[in-house]
Amino acid sequence: ATHLVWFRNDLRTFDNRALHAACEDPSARVLALFIATPGQWRAHSLAPRQATFIHQTLHHLQAALAAKGIELHYHQCDDFAAGNAWLVDFCREQQADQLFYNRQYELNEQRRDAALEQALAGQVHCRAFDDSLLLPPGSVTTGHGEMYKVYTPFRNAFLRRLTATDTRSLPAPRPRSQGRVVHHPLTPFDYPQQPVDEALFPAGEEAALARLRTFCREQAADYVRQRDQPAIQGTSQLSPYLAIGVLSPRQCFNRLQAECPMMLEQRDGGAFGWLNELIWRDFYRHLLVTWPMLCKHQPFIRWTAFVPWREPGEAFEAWKQGRTGYPIVDAAMRQMNQTGWMHNRLRMITASYLVKDLRIDWREGERYFMSQLIDGDYAANNGGWQWAASTGTDATPYFRIFNPTTQGERYDKQGDFIRRWVPELAEVPGSAIHQPHRWAGQQQRVLDYPAPQVDHATARRETLEAFEDARRHA
Ligand code: FAD
Repeated sequence: ATHLVWFRNDLRTFDNRALHAACEDPSARVLALFIATPGQWRAHSLAPRQATFIHQTLHHLQAALAAKGIELHYHQCDDFAAGNAWLVDFCREQQADQLFYNRQYELNEQRRDAALEQALAGQVHCRAFDDSLLLPPGSVTTGHGEMYKVYTPFRNAFLRRLTATDTRSLPAPRPRSQGRVVHHPLTPFDYPQQPVDEALFPAGEEAALARLRTFCREQAADYVRQRDQPAIQGTSQLSPYLAIGVLSPRQCFNRLQAECPMMLEQRDGGAFGWLNELIWRDFYRHLLVTWPMLCKHQPFIRWTAFVPWREPGEAFEAWKQGRTGYPIVDAAMRQMNQTGWMHNRLRMITASYLVKDLRIDWREGERYFMSQLIDGDYAANNGGWQWAASTGTDATPYFRIFNPTTQGERYDKQGDFIRRWVPELAEVPGSAIHQPHRWAGQQQRVLDYPAPQVDHATARRETLEAFEDARRHA
């Protein structure tokens, strides 16, 4: 028998359900495959940096698979349709009997898989697995069998279910003896190239597992205390690995439990706070499956479609470049532009600023984030933007609007983070940095830094009116 494993967003050998299942029969010939689809990526604004990270990861994956006697084939074509057509031929050429893959939950990906299964019907048996989540979509529901619309009750039901589920991680496959493993060159993607800072995000499973172990052992217990301070490294920075499946959420959960065994009983410790974030990750994926309209750029709360957004124009460009005149917003945008990663608190602040202060459509921000993030993940990004824009599932009312100055004062008190990313403000001392022009006026100094784009109080009032109008007229 020939088993083909199609790798997509699950670029790892440990705890990979599709790979594990394909290798169960020791006599089967197992082949692996990755198909790059740059046209598809272009249409969805995949960050060139994330593409680079995928490419680097493939090198590691290819070597790890080769060590197990499994050959990784590689093909590049434009989009999903072309990929499917090629894959049907490839299955025929290789005389594959079974195709194994882990499910992806976005609408286009689901349609691609359904079309492929149809095209292969009668020839190749397709076996799909729920692998990229702690619990499969549809398994956490209300008493009426419906998906939750609000996070907290979802989490409570999720925890009940999680403790009753076998979440053990699977081992990597045993080495197979199936002859010589041919090395298929991983030609560069036909996609814009952008380097990844390898000191920040070294590629490969080993690096990811090492980071996970260190975080759970040394930092998880302090997570809740440290997670909101962007000046320190208080979060795991594992998101780039989770986004492309170098790690599974089960590996994260199991390692966390091993290091903090009382986490689930205590429920209020730092480690539990980290588990809570992993559950948010599941939550947004479960939502996508229940409400596929979320994959079609639609807001969850219907009436918010009527908010009159402003033309993006120059204000949007300044936001992108980190030149809004609000130091915490600018530092955050520059962190993302330069490294591909942004701290969660800052994602909330910058997103809120774009939507509530500049009143620019959240979908513009969503797309820009996607084009920059090394951890770009459709469900988490869409969920985060809809949360910030108050168009999403959460109970956050639209009139809760972040003040970018006080957010900066609260979470970067002495401006250490700002000074790192906005060198124009290096000399502004301590907490004066959040309103640098006021300080400069007092000191009779001139700063090479823009004045605030908008007056927050005025912008806030106008945004509230716009949301209220939209709700009334919907
Ligand atoms: P940790 O705090 O260590 O959390 C551990 C893991 O849990 C993360 O790696 C991530 O996989 C998951 N996680 C944490 N917070 C969230 C959350 N709020 N929602 C969903 N999953 C979460 N996350 C992405 O992975 N990709 C995105 O494209 C993305 N876009 C976002 C856009 C906005 C506007 C907002 C507000 C949030 C977004 N997030 C996104 C969620 C969150 O900001 C990042 O997951 C987090 O900052 C990653 O850093 P970390 O790995 O150190 O997280």
